[in-house]
Amino acid sequence: MNKLYEPKKNCNKCKRLFNFRKKNISENPDWFNAPVPNFGELNSTLLIVGLAPGLKGANKTGRPFTGDYAGDLLYKTLEKFGFSNDLYHGMLNDGLRLYNCSITNAVKCVPPQNKPVSEEIKNCNQFLKLTIENHKNLKVIIALGLVAHNSVLSALCLKQKLYKFKHGSEHKLKDLTLIDSYHCSRYNTNTGRLNEKMFKEVFLKAKNEIET
Ligand code: URA
Repeated sequence: MNKLYEPKKNCNKCKRLFNFRKKNISENPDWFNAPVPNFGELNSTLLIVGLAPGLKGANKTGRPFTGDYAGDLLYKTLEKFGFSNDLYHGMLNDGLRLYNCSITNAVKCVPPQNKPVSEEIKNCNQFLKLTIENHKNLKVIIALGLVAHNSVLSALCLKQKLYKFKHGSEHKLKDLTLIDSYHCSRYNTNTGRLNEKMFKEVFLKAKNEIET
């Protein structure tokens, strides 16, 4: 079946990202170098929304948050809360399984300097919208960072000014809860904006929300 919630492998909606992909393919032909598909099952009640694939992480391996620092913290935390097994080793064939949890990105292709521009975020929003719509049992979305937060609101046709991003905030949206977290990037943990305890508290909130 054609998964409409995933871009085509050679998607060219964003010229800058398309050209960056071509460059990466020529420099590293053995890397994944394509829009990174969602990870997890469509019947999950938790959806985690990241920013965009990291160049040498998800863009290289083909699985969100796989192979970079952000993934180390994310997958360690997922395991702690029973949302995954303990087989994360930073590669596609490591045997990692998610339980009742899916992971996607606001932008599916790797952007230069990890920074998608607003047109790219807009272009890719249709896939997030379809991803959310196809998760029929969804109860909680965790947005990792402001771009993810705003992308979720756009996907649900909700006004950004009514829901301000704040780490740890829980927003009641239609029939689901959006929980905000600072992104688990190396930059945020190195600068102390986010630490493991703060990140765990976000997942504790998600777990409680799912179980009530
Ligand atoms: N890898 C991803 O897939 N997404 C992010 O937001 C960061 C790293």
